[in-house]
Amino acid sequence: MALPFQALFLGPAGENAQIVEDFILEALRDHVFWRRNFHPEDGPFIRESDKRSEAYDATLMRLRQELYYLLSRLKQGAPLFSPRYIAHMTSDVLISSLVGYFAAMLYNPNNISEEAAPVTTELELEVGMQLARLVGYGPQAWGHLTSGGSVANLEALWAVRGIKFFSPAAAMVARELDLPEIPLQRADGQITTLQAMTPWELMNVPLDAALQLRDTLLRMPDPRVRRRLDACSLASRGMLGFYRAFEAAFGEKLAEPVLLVPATKHYSWVKIVDLLGSGREQIVELPLDEHYRIDPQAFRGVLDDLNESQIPVLSLVAVLGSTETGTVDEIHRLLEVKNDAKLKGIDFYCHVDGAYGGYATARFRDPQGQWVKGPYDRASAASFEALPETDSITIDPHKLGYSPYPAGAIVFRDQRIREFLNVEAPYVFHDGDDAHTTIGKYIVEGSKPGAAAAAVWINHRVLPLDVTGYGALISNTISCARMLRDALASHRSPEGMRLLPLNDPDLNLVTFIALPPRIESHEELNRFNEELYRRFAIQPNRRVFSYEFLLSKTAFDVKKYARGLHARLDPAVWSMLDEGRPLTVLRSTIMNPFTKDMIEGGTFFSELLDALDREMRDAYALVTEKPRISPAPAGG
Ligand SMILES: *Cc1c(COP(=O)(O)O)cnc(C)c1O
Repeated sequence: MALPFQALFLGPAGENAQIVEDFILEALRDHVFWRRNFHPEDGPFIRESDKRSEAYDATLMRLRQELYYLLSRLKQGAPLFSPRYIAHMTSDVLISSLVGYFAAMLYNPNNISEEAAPVTTELELEVGMQLARLVGYGPQAWGHLTSGGSVANLEALWAVRGIKFFSPAAAMVARELDLPEIPLQRADGQITTLQAMTPWELMNVPLDAALQLRDTLLRMPDPRVRRRLDACSLASRGMLGFYRAFEAAFGEKLAEPVLLVPATKHYSWVKIVDLLGSGREQIVELPLDEHYRIDPQAFRGVLDDLNESQIPVLSLVAVLGSTETGTVDEIHRLLEVKNDAKLKGIDFYCHVDGAYGGYATARFRDPQGQWVKGPYDRASAASFEALPETDSITIDPHKLGYSPYPAGAIVFRDQRIREFLNVEAPYVFHDGDDAHTTIGKYIVEGSKPGAAAAAVWINHRVLPLDVTGYGALISNTISCARMLRDALASHRSPEGMRLLPLNDPDLNLVTFIALPPRIESHEELNRFNEELYRRFAIQPNRRVFSYEFLLSKTAFDVKKYARGLHARLDPAVWSMLDEGRPLTVLRSTIMNPFTKDMIEGGTFFSELLDALDREMRDAYALVTEKPRISPAPAGG
């Protein structure tokens, strides 16, 4: 039986306010008892006489005043709790996380190490394993929380880079120290030796073989091996130094690997390649099909081209819920292509950017953790089912996990991958630390909130990661998105304006454009949709209570989204589009389960479509208005 959403949220009208108040009070009181029991003999530090002082009063007075000021400013925030908020990938959070966060925040734990946060680091690693089980990784997995999906993606690619350059580094060390032959698997599955590999083969060593190679080398009794591996690593030498050293040792240049991302890529990838020193030129965008998913056939073609030019691949990034359209890449088909490429000697890592869609995997797990096909036999079901075959995944609890910020997560299929991130910082960590609890040396970030871990942990306890919990919640919102798509598609305004959906929702996102009966150019179409968007978007000088509905927008790159746009737009509109100009698109993310109540109550679509009609009329008048020649003002 699915859990009732009515018990999970504070409620659009604060219906559960009393319960939340009780829980927060409970957490505060419990924490105060805890304080009082720690060395009660120390006695009170703040005496009643202190409280009578003028300075004490004045300070509290200032605090109260400033709090009122803060509270009044906060009221201009976005109404994420409302079913009328159908804009960005953000929503109300579960009561459990609200209370869990508050309770843990009182302890101010820092999840950099167990010493700073003995309880919440454990909770964080537990959450990591829960997410690993959710996507189908085995007990060898390892995962933890980050500040968000961007950092999770960064960490994944940081690890990937360390792995990619490990075999070439090992080959340099083997040559330098004249090590005995070390067996190593090639991309095509054949066993050769580390020493016999060509630079191209070294850049295509399968992940598991590279992990095994590292274990083998570190177990060698000669202490020089460890020292030289460290000194020759990419982490020690940096890109430039590494390439120079390799060329000096092998008399041959090492080819620079590229990162394969969908053309729908989140912009975090652009930042990441820059940060990691590869640069944007090392990003290869994979073409999209008419559903805006990576086209597996085109992916095959890209791999063939790369093979021909002997350019290795750092990683494939597939997306589970793209930021613009919530599209789910066909991971199973991409993996098939990747497997075929092995025979041609190409192997690389596979990371899934499931920052948004990762939690939607819960729609396919029963309470025993078994995979269920469920009623969702769409193409995307097979994508989720293929997740265990991937190497890592980013999943944001602060998106479809309904947890407060900051909470992203990264999960690796094999915990040995994190060793490529291991930066020993002796001033923080002591010899003999249990590797499971000193997470600070394996992650990008330093100090981070243990409270966020407590919030995610209690959410997972209350709302299970299966069809009865998150699965039901997310399915509810996906069905809303599909209803919204249909309602938009069938609507005709009195003036003959149309609302044209541009995607068939894999998840709970709908994109659409408004089309007036006559439109003269791409530029005019954009201006019209921008104008319409402005009326549904938070503006700095508009009162937040005046909005009927909130929407967001995005911009489609016409060239990259061409196949999907071509399939959906009228030929007249399609032929008007200018490839070099982005297409302004309205976007709606439905995350609030109460939106469904409003839809079923019959008011949601009628009100939304009325509002859109009204604003389209106004926006159209404004956009098509001919500049009037106003008479010169008479006199002063
Ligand atoms: C949101 C998102 C990210 C980035 O996550 P943050 O938590 O905002 O850093 C990365 N990839 C995708 C697909 C996303 O939707």
